[in-house]
Amino acid sequence: MALALKETGPAAGADDAPAMAIRVSGIDVCFGEGENRFQALSDVSLEIADGSFVTILGPSGCGKSTLLRAIADLVPTAKGSIEVHGKTPHDARRDRNFSFVFQDATLLPWRSAIDNVRLPLEVGGGDTHGDAEGLLELVGLKGREKALPDELSGGMRQRVAIARALVTKPKILLMDEPFGALDEITRDKLNEELLRIWQETGTTILFVTHSIPEAAFLGQNVLMLAAHPGRVKEFMEVDLPHPRRLTERDTLEFVQITAHLRQQLEEC
Ligand code: ADP
Ligand code: MG
Repeated sequence: MALALKETGPAAGADDAPAMAIRVSGIDVCFGEGENRFQALSDVSLEIADGSFVTILGPSGCGKSTLLRAIADLVPTAKGSIEVHGKTPHDARRDRNFSFVFQDATLLPWRSAIDNVRLPLEVGGGDTHGDAEGLLELVGLKGREKALPDELSGGMRQRVAIARALVTKPKILLMDEPFGALDEITRDKLNEELLRIWQETGTTILFVTHSIPEAAFLGQNVLMLAAHPGRVKEFMEVDLPHPRRLTERDTLEFVQITAHLRQQLEEC
């Protein structure tokens, strides 16, 4: 067994247990009715500590997006419960405790980068003091505030989407394969930048991917889901220090971690 691998079980004793951002307890998610009823998730439980970075890995169709959507109050659960900072997903959504980032940046083409970042402040009311300019700088787009989406590369558009997600100051970012459509070089760069943004903002991040190196490089923990029905296969700690640099992917520890994940994935 690789030295850098550590299996992690349920949270430690109550006294030293970290504050939980997300607590999923025995949820089932089903789609359809009667004969067409399909169980997408079965008895899924997990705990995400406040401020942590957890990646979700699993074969296509195993329910990664469904799990994220259940946490975000976008699909109902048939059984079990979900708490987001102690609230129901519905209340957490109302209070803007989380933001979602999808594979497609879905920017409004007629609005500049900065006006796209400001959009959630305009449509949601409430706090309108989000620092759109500072966030564009945080994601590496200082000087491109006035650019239209068409004038930006795919990677830059995804940076705008991340800044837009952060403008409401969410405690949690839910990211569903946000770099899945980008070329490898751009994806690598954004992986490194996302870790920096995570450390600078202290936001809890739950990040879905089907890339093994991406899951291992980004996550403090990797949640592995198995398919048919979607269920937890493993919750693994990635015992590599932060800040992480891309070159660390060439180390023996990293290669051992990805080899372990690949083997687990084959059994899913
Ligand atoms: P993943 O993100 O891991 O690829 P999904 O969470 O998108 O998988 O889907 C899990 C399973 O649930 C798939 O078999 C998919 O077809 C099914 N599914 C997802 N959303 C719906 C829906 N709205 N209606 C019916 N089936 C769905
Ligand atoms: Mg998906």
